[in-house]
Amino acid sequence: MLYIVPTPIGNLGDITHRAQEVLSTVDLILAEDTRVTQRLLAKYEIHTPLRPYHAHNEHQTTANVIQLLTEGKTIALVSDAGTPGISDPGFMLVRACREAEQEVVVLPGPTAFVPALVGSGFPCDRFFFEGFLPHKKGRQTRWKYLATIPHTLVLYESPYRLIKCLEEIKTFIGEVRKVCVVREISKIHEQYHFGSASDLRAWFEKHPEKVKGEMVVIISAEGSGKHSQEDGEDE
Ligand code: SAM
Repeated sequence: MLYIVPTPIGNLGDITHRAQEVLSTVDLILAEDTRVTQRLLAKYEIHTPLRPYHAHNEHQTTANVIQLLTEGKTIALVSDAGTPGISDPGFMLVRACREAEQEVVVLPGPTAFVPALVGSGFPCDRFFFEGFLPHKKGRQTRWKYLATIPHTLVLYESPYRLIKCLEEIKTFIGEVRKVCVVREISKIHEQYHFGSASDLRAWFEKHPEKVKGEMVVIISAEGSGKHSQEDGEDE
């Protein structure tokens, strides 16, 4: 059986009892970066063997993992942080397990976009998760598509592209829909920044020390949460 095990996205306390139990009892843990996972395992005194499973070896490794599962091994898949398969390796292995009729159990647990979306206060009854936009080729096409979606939009973005992303929101989505940049969820410096795309761009350009860490960018649903002058950065 394959277990998909979410791991903390910043606060090491955010691991469930069940995740710890599974990680300590499986035969093997597949990890995106074995050094990162080793630190987590050390904290919880878990000694299960680790093997790398990441974007660069998943094609070659998947068949071998299916073989181990058919031999009766129990295996857990973890990524560096959050839920495997969500903007992280995992999809290919789960699909292969389903095709090979191997059981898959996905544990509920941390993922960055859920707290960001809920904490933004933007409508979350319906939303569209984009994850990472392509860095170059195809990026504009994605923005044009996103502009047609009236629901709250959720993006993962690197600090290196935040300013570019805010510029693009202004160009493709406009200034009416309010934007929220959520940084460092569950860490000491967790912060929510609200404003129009232009206001946020100006603010981050003035505060380059805040253009760092991990971030989720949320764009409010059409016709909701219109930006007003009173809304500023919420520190
Ligand atoms: N699998 C992860 C999940 O379930 O959310 C996502 C992994 S993806 C490679 C990493 C991206 O997730 C970051 O670039 C950032 O956009 C977002 N992220 C992860 N941890 C975060 C945090 N603590 N605060 C804000 N965003 C975070």
